Amino acid sequence: MDSVKHKPDVLVVGGGIIGLCTALELQTSGRSVAILDRGGVGAGCSFANAGWLTPCFAMPLPQPGMLLKAISWLLDAQSPFHIQPRLSLDLVRWLWRFRQATNRRTMLASIEVLVALSHYTLAWFEKLAATTAANGGDALGFERRGLLMVSGTNDGVEAAVNEMQLMADRGVSGRHLDRDAVLAFEPTLRPRVLGGVYFPDEAQIDPYCASLAVAAAFRAAGGAILPPAEAYDFDVSAGRISRVMTTQGPVEPDLVVLAAGSWSPSIATRLGLRVPILGGKGYSMTVDGATRRPARPIMIVDRKIAVTPFPDRLRVAGTLELVDQDFSISVSRLQGIRRGVRDYLDLGDHEAAGAEPDVRDIWRGLRPCTPDGVPMIGFSQRLANLFLCTGHQMLGLQTAAGSARLAADLVLGRPPLTHPYPFRPERFG
Ligand SMILES: Cc1cc2nc3c(=O)[nH]c(=O)nc-3n(C[C@H](O)[C@H](O)[C@H](O)COP(=O)(O)OP(=O)(O)OC[C@H]3O[C@@H](n4cnc5c(N)ncnc54)[C@H](O)[C@@H]3O)c2cc1C
Repeated sequence: MDSVKHKPDVLVVGGGIIGLCTALELQTSGRSVAILDRGGVGAGCSFANAGWLTPCFAMPLPQPGMLLKAISWLLDAQSPFHIQPRLSLDLVRWLWRFRQATNRRTMLASIEVLVALSHYTLAWFEKLAATTAANGGDALGFERRGLLMVSGTNDGVEAAVNEMQLMADRGVSGRHLDRDAVLAFEPTLRPRVLGGVYFPDEAQIDPYCASLAVAAAFRAAGGAILPPAEAYDFDVSAGRISRVMTTQGPVEPDLVVLAAGSWSPSIATRLGLRVPILGGKGYSMTVDGATRRPARPIMIVDRKIAVTPFPDRLRVAGTLELVDQDFSISVSRLQGIRRGVRDYLDLGDHEAAGAEPDVRDIWRGLRPCTPDGVPMIGFSQRLANLFLCTGHQMLGLQTAAGSARLAADLVLGRPPLTHPYPFRPERFG
């Protein structure tokens, strides 16, 4: 039998932004923690997302009317939301639970908890960026430029205004801009925009730099990042995980935290557990040669395209296609994003030709989507030393520190940051 080299108090499986923040919180609370990731830390879905820290955007995926919209888009190869049709009992179960969550009451309850985690996380990253800068590093691309939601349809403007009203009750301020006001405010927008909403307090950060900074803080606090290895099986006895089998040898932790994003279901299956998470595939890319840039992040509501001006590049992101570990690149969906950018933004060089922008750094990631749009944070009911912290859908970056704090509170028996009930993993049976 292979000898055991590592016996940490806690083994966090998955070194994305969720695993990293959770590991740091537990390590700084006095536990000895090791992170296991099969690639480099921060290289999964956390790598090249839009970088938004935007409590105003803390909406769950299931919203009233969403399923019908997805069905009407089934045959549209460029639609922003798509369910990849396939014969799968897991997909049917997931869609059934998703449908149950697409009502206003459930949506409002989800917004409540997602906004709370988002507020906490934004403040946390602001502090991390300031500390990193004070220690001679860069500020992780952290900036508070606000978020502008715009639309070229009246329905889209109405949706943005509704969101503003919903969020106002939760401490997120925004202001409505009519067509003239929005075009004056953001001159890169094309005249097809009919109006929008500006949320002034929202922030952005470079997501990969953020992951690396959390990893550095974790190491500095004495945490261990194990050499890249995959957890592929588990020994279980007396209702506990006694050993985690990894491709670099076994690990024997007291507690296992499952934070493997969209890979969590396949790992859970090895433990005899069902974790209903589907991958919400999305793309990001850098726009090449833009001679004009928006002054702030923009959400193009009717195309669901996110535009983030980083200091060194303009990133655009979009689409959500529900898949099962499918990382293939869809040319038509990439095209849909590029077309959306061309239709809504005048970035200078491409204006005369009316061409779609040239892009590079094309990346895709699978957002870990639970059917009700709320992460799973809590102990497993079946295995006493398994804790889940996964399923953060489109909001993993902006809820990471809040989720980590809640996870550590529950593990350590501290008063929880927020009521843990909505996050309980067993809600899916
Ligand atoms: C296009 C796009 C734009 C987005 N924009 C935003 C945004 O602006 N703001 C925001 O808040 N969120 C955004 N998101 C969502 C966000 O990226 C995710 O919610 C978040 O990255 C999930 O983090 P995670 O740590 O759970 O998963 P991941 O980052 O995917 O990490 C999981 C890790 O587990 C590891 N792993 C998997 N299996 C194993 C195994 N068997 N053994 C060991 N390790 C394993 C993987 O290597 C991976 O590193 C966006 C997503 C996409 C796709």
